[in-house]
Amino acid sequence: MEQKMYSHRGFMLDVCRHYMPVEHIKKLIKAAEICGLNRMHWHLSDDQGWRIEIKKYPKLTEIGSVRGASFFGDVSETENNCGYYTQEEAREIVSYAKECGIEIVPEIELPGHASAMLAAYPEFGCRRTVIKEKSEQEIDSPYDYKVETAGGIFPNLICAGKDEAVNFLKDIMDEIVELFPFDAVHIGGDEALKLHWRRCPDCQRRIREKSLKDEEELQRWLVLEIGEYLAQKGKSTIVFNDCLAGGMLPKHFIAQHWMGNDEETAEFMKAGGKVIYSDIEHFYFDYPYSSIDVHHIWQTPRVPKYADGYEENLLGMECMLWAERITNIDRAAYLLFPRVAAVALKATRPDGIETWEQFSTEVKKLQEQIDELGLIGAPEQDWKLSPETAEADRLEEKKRRTSPGALQAERAEERLLLQEKLEKALGEVELPRSFALQVMDSAWNINE
Ligand SMILES: [Zn+2]
Repeated sequence: MEQKMYSHRGFMLDVCRHYMPVEHIKKLIKAAEICGLNRMHWHLSDDQGWRIEIKKYPKLTEIGSVRGASFFGDVSETENNCGYYTQEEAREIVSYAKECGIEIVPEIELPGHASAMLAAYPEFGCRRTVIKEKSEQEIDSPYDYKVETAGGIFPNLICAGKDEAVNFLKDIMDEIVELFPFDAVHIGGDEALKLHWRRCPDCQRRIREKSLKDEEELQRWLVLEIGEYLAQKGKSTIVFNDCLAGGMLPKHFIAQHWMGNDEETAEFMKAGGKVIYSDIEHFYFDYPYSSIDVHHIWQTPRVPKYADGYEENLLGMECMLWAERITNIDRAAYLLFPRVAAVALKATRPDGIETWEQFSTEVKKLQEQIDELGLIGAPEQDWKLSPETAEADRLEEKKRRTSPGALQAERAEERLLLQEKLEKALGEVELPRSFALQVMDSAWNINE
């Protein structure tokens, strides 16, 4: 089928792990315009920070935007850990971006990556219980939420069983849709470990009442509930492809594919679902140049395998900048440029650019204009790394990631992922749930 210029040509900016001043965001938007992008996906909430003022819930920013010394590797422990955008600033960014031909897609993550949200409003988290034989016993103290100070995945989920928690999310969406006129809102949905949900009487009641099969379907129920709410306000809902694990989603949902389960994404596209191509091995620009250099982007297929035959449902490409180890604009610029320019060339040129020489010449032209903004990209020797240089860069990167605090967080994450896997497996052998969780709790001592 004839290829076309993609309608979604985006970059994602994570301002949760490190706050970025408004002026710097504007520069990145300007550079994105130069490249020919038309979307900025603005990641505004995560475990390590809540960054957007919500008038009805002032603690989200009072508590959720403040983080202590952090452990992300070799970066500063205190630089840009705190801060948020007032609604006025958000409007200013939206209007500046609009002048540049760029729409802002706001993202509020749910149900996971919610530690900062729950640090501010712990009452919207799950009830904490230990599982006794055939019954749950509540522990008086709620889960201990805080704005997390290291990277990784955390088990802290918004409770899908409490109506007040669902209404809290809807209230937040009310303000978000007022602030961001673009016709889509991103609600995340990735990396939601179900440990709390399996033990929460409210979530389990919801599963029974709605005749859901399991916690994956409960996530789908919550995502649908919020998506329907947004649809009533005329908005599409974007989710990460993880959300397809609980079953297909209706057509007013857009899936952003980043990792895993290509079959689910293909099936979604086959049913008419729209998809954004953001695969981790091509578009994650917090990764070093040794993993993704400009030459790699040139070679990246314009249509991923899972979209074969359903090209008309592929909205476009989006590159991602997760900011655990990006504390300042110079580092962001080095990692983004010229890789963003390279992606933009792929997204805007349906005919493709045949030779590497032509491609790198085009990239160079864009980079020269970006340099003028004071955004200094990676030098040309990083655009196409030799195997030896790539290896040296990988070692350097490993060093950058390593610090005692970061390693400790990595181990905690591995343990959680393993626990999640074991609990899912126990669910599949059809042990009584209470028995399975009792086994897990005593094995992992998670409540001690
Ligand atoms: Zn719950």
